[in-house]
Amino acid sequence: MSIKLDGKKLSLEIEEKLNNYIFNNKKIAKRTPGLAVIRIGEDPASGVYVKNKERACSRVGIRSIIFHLKDNVEQKEVEQLINKLNLDNDIDGMLLQLPIPKKFDDQKLISFINPSKDVDGLNEKNIGKLVKNEPAMRSCTPAGIVNLLKSQKITIEGKKIVVIGRSLLVGKPLSLMLLNLNGTVTMTHSKTLNLNKVCKEADILIAAAGKPNLIDSSFVKEGAVIIDVGIHRIESSDKNKTRLCGDVLLEDVIPKVFAYTPVPGGVGPMTVTMLLVNTIFSWQKQFGLSSTLNDLLP
Ligand code: NAD
Repeated sequence: MSIKLDGKKLSLEIEEKLNNYIFNNKKIAKRTPGLAVIRIGEDPASGVYVKNKERACSRVGIRSIIFHLKDNVEQKEVEQLINKLNLDNDIDGMLLQLPIPKKFDDQKLISFINPSKDVDGLNEKNIGKLVKNEPAMRSCTPAGIVNLLKSQKITIEGKKIVVIGRSLLVGKPLSLMLLNLNGTVTMTHSKTLNLNKVCKEADILIAAAGKPNLIDSSFVKEGAVIIDVGIHRIESSDKNKTRLCGDVLLEDVIPKVFAYTPVPGGVGPMTVTMLLVNTIFSWQKQFGLSSTLNDLLP
């Protein structure tokens, strides 16, 4: 029987630790941690993600403030807001909810965020520290995946790991984190030749291509671990309904693998949890609090 890597369950366990940590330290800090979320425009999926983040913050005791800007604001105005939040001592973390409308330069905006408040871990300073294997904010989805693997004591060191996708959000930082943990990492992408053959070598295969059901059992080695990062809403067999799926054709792959992540309930919940961890990490550093949560940051 293959093991389900249950991100929902692990995220609830970590949230309980975070809740206790805030409760035990807020007297010293004299305030709870604060997270600012900047959303621009009306992308409906972004609305759902921001709401989820807001709810998760309130579950553990983080104060969240949402700045929902109209898409007719100017790049300069967003930069000014970021600068104001950089200087706000009650804000420990800040993120720009992506995607934002095309007229904005999202990378420039992210580079305006003070690296110590960059809870998405996407600022070039934090990415640079990841490359150097130095402690820093880590991007949330990759850090969540590492914690999921660790939670089931799945060894990374020495394992052949294939990551499908090379985005700044997932594939690249994840490959670096796994490399820092002594995995033998192959990063693949849309121009990779013989993807099937490359994947079949993997002890741990991670699919972050953003293509529904791209990976079937023919890509997977017997006994491998498979992590599905993709999340897609597709039509269900009942025509009027939709359902969620990932990049992996799970029903085909599960009988062959040692462990797998479900969609939903695998990587997704861990992403939000790592955002909370990063926010608390910044709060901890600002007030010199005990560092009992540091092992959650790969
Ligand atoms: P992206 O589109 O920025 O990057 C996709 C990457 O996959 C690219 O590097 C591309 O070269 C590669 N790729 C595309 N088609 C491929 C193919 N046929 N074969 C091999 N490589 C291919 O996407 P992203 O932001 O990295 O996200 C990837 C997926 O993960 C999406 O489905 C996204 O919704 C999901 N996601 C989920 C979470 C979560 O919390 N669960 C977080 C972030 C992203």
